[in-house]
Amino acid sequence: MNAENTSRRAFMSRLGLGALSIGAIAAVQACGKSGGGEGAKCDDTTGLDDAAKATRTSLKYTDKSPDPAKTCSKCQQFNAPEGGAACGGCKLFKGTVSPAGNCAGFVVKAG
Ligand code: SF4
Repeated sequence: MNAENTSRRAFMSRLGLGALSIGAIAAVQACGKSGGGEGAKCDDTTGLDDAAKATRTSLKYTDKSPDPAKTCSKCQQFNAPEGGAACGGCKLFKGTVSPAGNCAGFVVKAG
């Protein structure tokens, strides 16, 4: 093995680690987006007025329902996501909610 082969091997090794790092970063960023259906992060209140934030807080909205039988997707107040979005809406307050979310306003969907 000569110095050129060693250098090439070291370069290829670093290239592989770089590609893995970029993949890991992309995966982490994807987790934080408002995407992902049942695991969607939809509790960003940026841009909402104080009243909307207060309503969400008073109803104890959470992206992850503690009871699988009482998720937003099973609630009468839920507006399903549109256009491929991961987050839907709620008839009780402004902002996005997760299909897997829950709040104190839950009412089981009819039918
Ligand atoms: S009322 Fe609560 S449980 Fe029902 S859709 Fe709205 S946030 Fe989800």
